[in-house]
Amino acid sequence: MKNFSDLGLCAELVRAVTEKGYDTPSPIQAEAIPAVLERRDVIAAAQTGTGKTAGFTLPMIQILSDMDGDKPRRMRPVRALILTPTRELAAQVQDNIRTYGVHTRLKSAVVFGGVKINPQIRQLRDGVDILVATPGRLLDLCQQKACRLDEVHMLVLDEADRMLDMGFINDIRKVIKLLPKRRQNLLFSATFSKEIRSMTRELLVNPITVEVSPENTTAETVKQSAYRCDAGAKAALSIELIKGGNWDQVLVFTRTKHGANRLSKKLDQSGIQSSAIHGDKSQGARTRALQGFKDGKIRVLVATDIAARGLDIAQLPHVINYEIPNIPEDYVHRIGRTGRAGKEGEAVSLVCNEERPFFSAIEKLISQRIKLSDLEGFEPELWPNRAPTASEVQKAAAQRKAAAQKARGPRRPQASNNKKRDNRGSENAAGKSSNQSGGQSGGKSSGASGNRRRRPFRRKSR
Ligand code: AMP
Repeated sequence: MKNFSDLGLCAELVRAVTEKGYDTPSPIQAEAIPAVLERRDVIAAAQTGTGKTAGFTLPMIQILSDMDGDKPRRMRPVRALILTPTRELAAQVQDNIRTYGVHTRLKSAVVFGGVKINPQIRQLRDGVDILVATPGRLLDLCQQKACRLDEVHMLVLDEADRMLDMGFINDIRKVIKLLPKRRQNLLFSATFSKEIRSMTRELLVNPITVEVSPENTTAETVKQSAYRCDAGAKAALSIELIKGGNWDQVLVFTRTKHGANRLSKKLDQSGIQSSAIHGDKSQGARTRALQGFKDGKIRVLVATDIAARGLDIAQLPHVINYEIPNIPEDYVHRIGRTGRAGKEGEAVSLVCNEERPFFSAIEKLISQRIKLSDLEGFEPELWPNRAPTASEVQKAAAQRKAAAQKARGPRRPQASNNKKRDNRGSENAAGKSSNQSGGQSGGKSSGASGNRRRRPFRRKSR
């Protein structure tokens, strides 16, 4: 088996990864690092947890160190740009760069919305070699002339599928216009939709494709199962699973921010220490919740898809899909939170009658049957022989939404939202579309960038 120096990495980087405790490159690293060092464009089909971040940051640090790294920092322009969909992922990527680049002179910075812009401007003025950014804040900084991108040699689109899902395509296009035409492009994505494929054709030149697991698959280290239940029994069932199984670190996915808050409250009431993490929470609250979870002070983190994106929690053993996503790819991302770096993990889905078509679509996407059983005392009352179709579910949800709106009366006019752009990189600006029973509130985004286009759901249920 190859080691890190066999991949062509310099002594400083090999030392840094050894200090971090890595002995052997992961499969994605073994394939991607030499290709990036050869200055090829790369498409990598890599799920989170495969070590993909080191797969692009290690060779990037090496290339940039070899390239006028001796010049004083202030005279070194941004030469590598990494775009990520969320603040959390951006922060984690920069964390990795700092760790791996500890024995080099390179300077990295991270910029995202939702926090003050001035410290970011000052940092950029001091000189930054590698910039990690969410698209909205980056464009703001460029518009304010605080950041130049005309000497960027390397562009990385990390979790490209999620960036498209979050409606960042127009922002990405605007950023690309600010880059030099000749550059190296790397695109990482866990799933490959038609949109991603057309983006790769548009952006990458003669790319090498690096694939460590077939597209749209889930890690083998994750044990997947599901329980049938009624929608109203999900909180009690989750409590039973967590307490009964003595699970001490659980990530629970809900569809909406309100749902996350409500469930977290119920868990707390039942004596399970929990915290909700979503786009309505301040960056500080999100960071504190994540830290508390990592430190073991919080037993359950209840998160929406977008807030949880890119979270790297070592050895996370349990994921509960409290609600089944109507976009099957989201399931792959969710359960990618567990079973990371070869560790064992368990993902349990709670499926109510209305979610049956979405569950079937997930099984189809991952080409795998997920064991669906009942937990004693939680057997569903509503589970007719014929599952509803996706369009029936969506129609019923639209009717419920209309009835609720009617009951609430006319909406109050909304205050103008100056913070829209600042909130990019969070689900607030994600343009998250509503799904089977109403989407996340506050999911509006400004302009065309919020037009999240997702594959319409047409599959028949089983
Ligand atoms: P990523 O897929 O980049 O989010 O990485 C997932 C996790 O694997 C992170 O906690 C990394 O620190 C860890 N990791 C990355 N590369 C290796 C390696 N070669 N050996 C062991 N752990 C690694």
